[in-house]
Amino acid sequence: MKQAILVLMLASFGWAHPALGQTPHSAQVGGRDVASFLPVPAATEKNRLPIDPKLGYWVGEVADRFYVITDGVWQSGFLVTDEGVVVFDAPASYGNRIPQIIRSQTDQPISHLIYSHAHKDHIAGSPAVLAAAPHAEIIAHERVAAYLLDIADPLRPLPTRTFSGSVTLLIGGERIQIDEVGPYHSTEADLFISLPRQRVLYAIDAVAPGWVTFQGLDVTVNTHNYLAVGHELMARDWDLLVPGHLTQLGTRDQVAQTIEYTNDVLAVATDVFTNTDMMATMGVAAADAGWSNPFLLFRYYQEAMVNACSERLVALWGDRLAGVDVFAPSHCDKLLVYLRVD
Ligand SMILES: [Zn+2]
Repeated sequence: MKQAILVLMLASFGWAHPALGQTPHSAQVGGRDVASFLPVPAATEKNRLPIDPKLGYWVGEVADRFYVITDGVWQSGFLVTDEGVVVFDAPASYGNRIPQIIRSQTDQPISHLIYSHAHKDHIAGSPAVLAAAPHAEIIAHERVAAYLLDIADPLRPLPTRTFSGSVTLLIGGERIQIDEVGPYHSTEADLFISLPRQRVLYAIDAVAPGWVTFQGLDVTVNTHNYLAVGHELMARDWDLLVPGHLTQLGTRDQVAQTIEYTNDVLAVATDVFTNTDMMATMGVAAADAGWSNPFLLFRYYQEAMVNACSERLVALWGDRLAGVDVFAPSHCDKLLVYLRVD
């Protein structure tokens, strides 16, 4: 009993008895202490949108009548027109606050909701938007609509209007150009949504300005299309990009920087892939484990290439973009698989 009390006391001071299996240790990612990862570069930090810690979000009119909402991880938008407010996505994280956020900026009612793609994290906040505006038109690509019909997710209401290819919306004196692209990220369809008058491009889950791309090249379902998306962004006429995630919006220079990073990942991965002898590398693991488990030996070979590739990318980009040492391994892994099979 005395010993139990002692253990509880030590635990309350942040210590634990090893016998309880609570040996103190640091939080780790990929076998490294999280505190050892590179800081966010100053160039990225200075563009961070100022989230109000009390509200938990930031909202701002970033172009004439076009507003962006963000909680620091997700981003969405809305356009105020003479016939109502057009909402661009309703992220799950703060969707239930969108009606109130819009009311803080305009008296116009919500008239439309556009889905950028089918993913839950970007549109599963939609029920709150529809609760505030039950007659709002929901616009989505027809393959997104078919998918949503199939999965019957109550958090992702079915569209009321669908299209394929391109569609131009003229709503309350404003023009919204929607173009199907890729798909560079999701299975069903990805969209570039342009506001020509505002010179804004709303293109979700393609790039993260100031940061490297999210895990696995933005968890793309089509690596080949992903490798072209930066150039497709640059081929459009815009000044301000809404990328859908993280701490800032984007400029053309920042998208050019992402293209440069992606090109470097491809070049380094190609070099490592070409110059790593598969059988010799697998033989190193086989010396310890034998040849009976080809999965194990292949993974050893793949990890050796991923490590060599990501070390070089961190050296090239660690002080230029945020998150390089976090996600370069996943970018290398994705492209090393692509180089092998595509
Ligand atoms: Zn997505």
